[in-house]
Amino acid sequence: MIYFADNNTDKADMKDPMESRTKNSYQTLIYDFLKFDILVTCPKCDRKAVVRPGPLFLSTCETDQIKAICSHCGFNKKLSDTPSTSSYTKSEPKKDDRYFLIGESVDPFFQLPLWLQKECMGHLLWAYNHEHIDFLISHIQAKLRERNGQDLANKSLGSRLPRWMTSKNNREAILKELTELKNKSDSK
Ligand SMILES: [Zn+2]
Repeated sequence: MIYFADNNTDKADMKDPMESRTKNSYQTLIYDFLKFDILVTCPKCDRKAVVRPGPLFLSTCETDQIKAICSHCGFNKKLSDTPSTSSYTKSEPKKDDRYFLIGESVDPFFQLPLWLQKECMGHLLWAYNHEHIDFLISHIQAKLRERNGQDLANKSLGSRLPRWMTSKNNREAILKELTELKNKSDSK
């Protein structure tokens, strides 16, 4: 069984992400972005590497299919090669339980630093991958040209972005930083 530790909730109160999906639209999206390759900094050569989450990462996750791979130096590690962190709960730990951290500037599986992160206005701006950064850019752009009748779906999806990211005064600066991160995501 795989559990996700959500950084926005009490860490002692970990839930199956399926339970909380309806409660927070941005968190739902965060989980959705984890279906795609996550860009991380290689622990061996400090260049861009990827974490492959495998075909499905919820309750039936195959830890030998979750991999960290660097095409620059050949670093290659399966999650099943790393120690599990089963002592996290108070209840009797099962041998294969693993807890993954969501909502911090590391990948949830290996906890490698994300490739896409940047200090911005005293906060840390970060994204898991192209899909995530594209979402953030399009949301902030939509905010910038917001007017009556703005697409409701888009609004609700982004309604849980941190307030500092969507605050009127910060949008231009955030968009500039996000665009730089996007360029970084495209670089080798
Ligand atoms: Zn490397």
